[in-house]
Amino acid sequence: MLGGAQIAFMELVVCFAVRIPVRVTLPIVLAACREMALLAFEVKRCVPGQPGKPCRRVRFDHLFPVVRIIDTVKSMHISRTGLIFDERFLAHDTGVEDTVMMRRGSFRLSPVSHPSSTFITKRVKEFLDGSGLTAQMLPVEARAATEDEVAAYHTHEYIAGMRGLVASGAQVPGKMFQASWGCVDEETVLSPGSFTAALYATGGALNAVSAVIEGHVHNAYALLRPPGHHAMCNQALGFCIFNDAVIAAHYARNVYGLERVMIVDWDVHHGNGIQDAFYQDAGVLAVSLHQEDWYPKGWGALEQIGRGAGIGYTVNIPLPPGTGDRGYRAAFEQLILPIGRQFCPQLILIIAGQDASWLDPVAHMMVTMDGYRQLSSLMVDLAGEVCAGRLVILQAGGYSARYVPYCTAAIVEPLVGIDLGVVDLYATAPELRRCQTIFSHETQIALDAARSWHGQRWKL
Ligand SMILES: [Zn+2]
Repeated sequence: MLGGAQIAFMELVVCFAVRIPVRVTLPIVLAACREMALLAFEVKRCVPGQPGKPCRRVRFDHLFPVVRIIDTVKSMHISRTGLIFDERFLAHDTGVEDTVMMRRGSFRLSPVSHPSSTFITKRVKEFLDGSGLTAQMLPVEARAATEDEVAAYHTHEYIAGMRGLVASGAQVPGKMFQASWGCVDEETVLSPGSFTAALYATGGALNAVSAVIEGHVHNAYALLRPPGHHAMCNQALGFCIFNDAVIAAHYARNVYGLERVMIVDWDVHHGNGIQDAFYQDAGVLAVSLHQEDWYPKGWGALEQIGRGAGIGYTVNIPLPPGTGDRGYRAAFEQLILPIGRQFCPQLILIIAGQDASWLDPVAHMMVTMDGYRQLSSLMVDLAGEVCAGRLVILQAGGYSARYVPYCTAAIVEPLVGIDLGVVDLYATAPELRRCQTIFSHETQIALDAARSWHGQRWKL
């Protein structure tokens, strides 16, 4: 029977043979050293002249100090949480808004940043850096997704059309652009760097999936830009160009052979592209919580549950404005967690929109920084329970430049397993307490309806 040191040595040989990076091999070297130290300790304690007597295992806290030092170094080196960020994401520049439309004509005033501004992404990254979170995470590189990878959902005509449209310098400001290959809605602003940024954001999502499935990291947060969950196979929609979540789920199945992927989209807007992609697919459980009857119109009703083999695997949870922390938590505890346990995914993707926050300018859901921390924590626990912790979070919306960084840090903290003690931006505001405690009659009705409806297909 092989001992721990021998097993670690064999793993090391295999690692070198297939050129696995040092961040993987170093922990194995340390494990081998630890086992050898234990072995040496036990040999020392064997009593001479009593050959049949087994060596006595001693309590761990009595062992050589070197063993504990090695374990400390190991735990410091194996960063559990990956962080995906690339300066190229920032090349998707949505510019400013300075025009007021009138029924007849328009006028201009001082510019303000587009809601989906590069500025917010930068502030989030700076917040993660400044708070010390980045230092606790392992950087995972982004890359440009290949055309074949993107074509797992989008048409080749759309990909080529978008490449050409961006290269032509068209910005599509304020009006729908339509062509034979697809369309770009009036809200999705393009800049010269948008196509490259979208490829890197998609590739970043794929690298995050690879890093988690291959075990380089335990879980990952992908601070992506532009977002993806509204994009359809031939439509850029709602600030989104390529649907990174759909492509990432296909990638996990095609490249790693996964059979069940769960997507939880807590962006305040419905994840229409995800629903469209997997509507007839029982291999992807697509859950979306969103403000009811909001955006995009016609998507996200409770009754939309999938078609054919996919019936039951689309789970919409429309919630009323003002749901707040308690309502969101109840939706997770009463619906998402039990459904997730029954589906038993091999990987969980979260589409993280921080636009359900109480300070967001485009929606009205009243979730606080602490509320986001709770949702993240629940999903970390679910992933630990059903799929060995495999969890990848993809950045989606969030339009409060002041508050999104706070909420993002609160989402990342449970992934890393720490609480840095960041004080809420408006910690003393009475409105904050209200957002944390409100549970309206409308929320109760919405949750009852969702439980009753989805209870026809899931045990709730
Ligand atoms: Zn959104």
